[in-house]
Amino acid sequence: MSQPLSHPALSDADPELAALVGAEEQLQADTLRLIPSENYVSAAVLEATGTVLQNKYSEGYAGRRYYEGQQNIDQVETLAVERAKAVFGVEHANVQPYSGSPANLAAYLAFAEPGDTVLGMALPMGGHLTHGWGVSATGRWFRGVQYGVRPGSALIDFDEVRDLARKERPKIIFCGGTAVPRTIDFAAFGEIAREVDAVLVADIAHIAGLVAGGAHPSPVPHADVISTTTHKTLRGPRGAMLMSRASHAKAVDKAVFPGLQGGPHNHTTAAIAVALREAAAPSFRDYAHAVVANAKALAEALLARGYDLVSGGTDNHLVLIDLTSKDVPGKVAAKALDRAGIVVNYNTVPFDPRKPFDPSGIRIGTPSLTSRGLGTDRMPLVAEWIDRSVQAAAKGDEDALAVIRGEVAELLAGYPAPGLPTD
Ligand SMILES: *Cc1c(COP(=O)(O)O)cnc(C)c1O
Repeated sequence: MSQPLSHPALSDADPELAALVGAEEQLQADTLRLIPSENYVSAAVLEATGTVLQNKYSEGYAGRRYYEGQQNIDQVETLAVERAKAVFGVEHANVQPYSGSPANLAAYLAFAEPGDTVLGMALPMGGHLTHGWGVSATGRWFRGVQYGVRPGSALIDFDEVRDLARKERPKIIFCGGTAVPRTIDFAAFGEIAREVDAVLVADIAHIAGLVAGGAHPSPVPHADVISTTTHKTLRGPRGAMLMSRASHAKAVDKAVFPGLQGGPHNHTTAAIAVALREAAAPSFRDYAHAVVANAKALAEALLARGYDLVSGGTDNHLVLIDLTSKDVPGKVAAKALDRAGIVVNYNTVPFDPRKPFDPSGIRIGTPSLTSRGLGTDRMPLVAEWIDRSVQAAAKGDEDALAVIRGEVAELLAGYPAPGLPTD
């Protein structure tokens, strides 16, 4: 057992809550976390989120606030903005969106009117809810038209995207997604957006860290607006940013505040600044490339074990496994893996014959295990654990899952996670 972190004030004031935090620290230390949208932030990022910056109201932007007492906050936000501009090579950055979904909503507010047409990738094909999917406010308040991927290759069909754009004349085109294992061709999207005079929003929530580290092509200069969360591969706090050309700066800023939000979360802004400083360091380039190398190695090892991967592999941090040929539903596999100490999520695969709440696939990714220092040499073992867990799930073999859980914890004890208890 590892030593718990100490949270003396919390333990004293609310032992019940402190115990839950401690249990979560243990869980994150002992399990192999393969959810591709998750990560481990550094101790410095964690500390920044727990500072007295939390106590301030700061509606407005640096130098243009509606509250006094902003001497320090203005500098914090300016640091975050300047670092975002430098890391991503953009002319403008807004670091105030509360999270990825509100950031995207701000893009709608900036560049479309209710009822306008927007074009995005369909959720079951790998897109995000906020790209105009029906159950989302974005699909209720706007006319969402959706593109998909080709059957077979599972690659985006740019003929379809161009045809839809010409026919539907969207105000905004979204590219990027949550279950896209291949490189996003920002140039191709940019060409189509320019042809139909649409605003191209590149949603790089999942791959921002890869873009920052040079392990995925940048959407600059093809996209008009870049939306990103800060808590996925970028390894910052839960938050988001909108970046753009200077010509769109005003529209973006007005949409975030006062259009959509009130006071910015200054403690989050501070932690974003810290994460961006980390992302500017040479070691982050190594991290981003290691994430991709690990994902490719993991994909190879799974293919060698007879697994079907959507698009046949990966270019980034994410692998989408279609379990149809294994005769194990995604949810059954995900729950068995959880019992084996391997945390994934069940996921639809393109053209999934099963229902979204009980789909055919699982989605895995390497950002978290790479943050712990696991390298490509360990990926065959990770694939073996996944394979044994899926087989155990098929047979209902709980003993086999318990054995794997022990092996996982034993290996991970040698790879301490940033910000978490160590032995
Ligand atoms: C995660 C994600 C979002 C939403 O971010 P939240 O912080 O969960 O609201 C938006 N777009 C894409 C592509 C994402 O992956």
